[in-house]
Amino acid sequence: MPAKANIIDGKSIAAGLRADIAADVAGLGFKPGLAVILVGDDPASHVYVGNKIKACKEAGFESYEVRMAENCRQQDVRDAINALNANPEVHGILLQLPLPAHLEGDELIQMIDPAKDVDGLTLRNVGALVAGLPGMVPCTPQGSLLLIKSVTKDLTGKNAVVIGRSLLFGKPMAQLLLAENCTVTQAHSKTKDLAGVCRNADILVAAVGRPKMVKGDWIKQGAIVIDVGINRLETGKLCGDVDYEEALGVAGAITPVPGGVGPMTIACLLANTLKAAQAP
Ligand code: NAP
Repeated sequence: MPAKANIIDGKSIAAGLRADIAADVAGLGFKPGLAVILVGDDPASHVYVGNKIKACKEAGFESYEVRMAENCRQQDVRDAINALNANPEVHGILLQLPLPAHLEGDELIQMIDPAKDVDGLTLRNVGALVAGLPGMVPCTPQGSLLLIKSVTKDLTGKNAVVIGRSLLFGKPMAQLLLAENCTVTQAHSKTKDLAGVCRNADILVAAVGRPKMVKGDWIKQGAIVIDVGINRLETGKLCGDVDYEEALGVAGAITPVPGGVGPMTIACLLANTLKAAQAP
């Protein structure tokens, strides 16, 4: 099938956002501080945290990495969060997920000061998003919306389908699209005729974690397709939840994996930390 979709270049859009943030930081007169708590030895988490800290440095932020042993106690993590909540040089706190199974992640997340909750996962920030009040918006959906708006500024009246309903991505993504006056359908594992639901989408966002699940014939001609999935194939190659080759011939615009949504996540983490640092 001939390629005709515009490729949404998340890497360069994220680089532009990071450059804008770095320029704002340079004019602040102090360094915004981001603290990342990393519990245990998950290799992927170590890579993600390393990338976040590198991005912090490049943008002129101070970064604080709090490494905790795999077998640490719930109270140890509580103590670390309390110390960061009380530290005026720390503006953003991120608890890297997943946590070891013996820890109660939700209790720990809810302990983070909502003003420093740059992941947007505390109930105050979740509620603020639903209520349309100011707050911290989770980074990946925030970045995905920026990518959609890089194609079309006015989303009013568009049919948007979000596949996935996690608290980290699917639910906040649907709220952001609703706030842009889209007509939003939230699909999930129990949705009937998912292909038919997707065919109705002017904006299709896939966040499932199943390689190439969304086929070309699920996509409406000219749709904006945002592929959030990150899946590693047996070959070691990364791929998204959308069958990219098939989608290229149908979609109007599409994000690649890698190089689409992923880079926006870190850029929006910096944006949230800057916002926290600028708050009165
Ligand atoms: P998650 O918590 O596992 O949620 C997956 C969602 O997909 C669930 O709502 C699930 O439905 C739905 N689902 C599963 N199988 C389905 C099927 N056959 N048909 C329709 N829906 C189905 O995952 P997540 O944290 O939202 O992440 C989703 C993907 O995005 C993963 O690949 C993750 O790696 C990626 N991700 C990428 C970034 C980034 O920076 N690029 C950030 C976050 C996540 P139920 O609710 O019914 O179970």
